[in-house]
Amino acid sequence: MWTSRLQHASRVLIASDFDGTLAEIVPQPEAAAPLPGVLALLRRLAQQPRMRVALVSGRALSDLQARCPVPGCWYVGGHGNESSAPEEPAAHPAPHQPEDHVRIRHQIKTVAAEIQRRAAAWPGVQVEAKPYSVAVHFRQAPQWEAGIQAAFSELAASGAYRVMLGRQLAELLPEGALTKGLAVHRLRTRLGCDLAFYFGDDVTDEDVFSFDDVHVIGVKVEHGEGTGATAAAYRVRSPTEVLAALRAIEQAFLAVGEKTLHFSAVQP
Ligand SMILES: [Mg+2]
Repeated sequence: MWTSRLQHASRVLIASDFDGTLAEIVPQPEAAAPLPGVLALLRRLAQQPRMRVALVSGRALSDLQARCPVPGCWYVGGHGNESSAPEEPAAHPAPHQPEDHVRIRHQIKTVAAEIQRRAAAWPGVQVEAKPYSVAVHFRQAPQWEAGIQAAFSELAASGAYRVMLGRQLAELLPEGALTKGLAVHRLRTRLGCDLAFYFGDDVTDEDVFSFDDVHVIGVKVEHGEGTGATAAAYRVRSPTEVLAALRAIEQAFLAVGEKTLHFSAVQP
């Protein structure tokens, strides 16, 4: 049970995806905003001395920071490839070196131009070039899904890229790019947290749920799509339920804190 694990944890990381998890899914990605109450709650959690808060998204780091401003929060963008926290030098596998970042960004720029060119044949889709990936959003034009997937598979077959399929989007990442799973694991250890909760709703979040780290409790957001396969320990049905779960964690956490205070007060 998560409550007893929370009781025994000395420092807790609350980590979450953004789109479809703390924000409702909207037709235009640029219109996504945190659910009312989310920012205030995350700000409260981030102020707890024994708690750390992190947002982990496929969005570019700067976009994520601007969209969900929480003082003291740690931000990870680009599915784990852009972080507001410097990498641990001893991390394994070894973190990307500055020359790797330059190479990857150049590689992405080149392939983004190619995808932009092909997108002329897919009216209604939106191409988003991020620093470490290229995403094609087809929510407004689902008829192009098969064509987009075929084009992405062809580009991936060169061996330099891997394809990620999300909710109404296809994304191309350089082979060797980090995943959310590794990013959350690293952040948890780096911040000295012996327990982490991770909330997410999409395929890339499964990288966190299935990552070999027993200290991370996964919570999958299902959006009424039924009980799809997930490696997460818990399921909720909507961002509203994520907010409720976060409030429950806050309450349980504060109750533990009070008990500890009370206990220390009766010590001689
Ligand atoms: Mg999401």
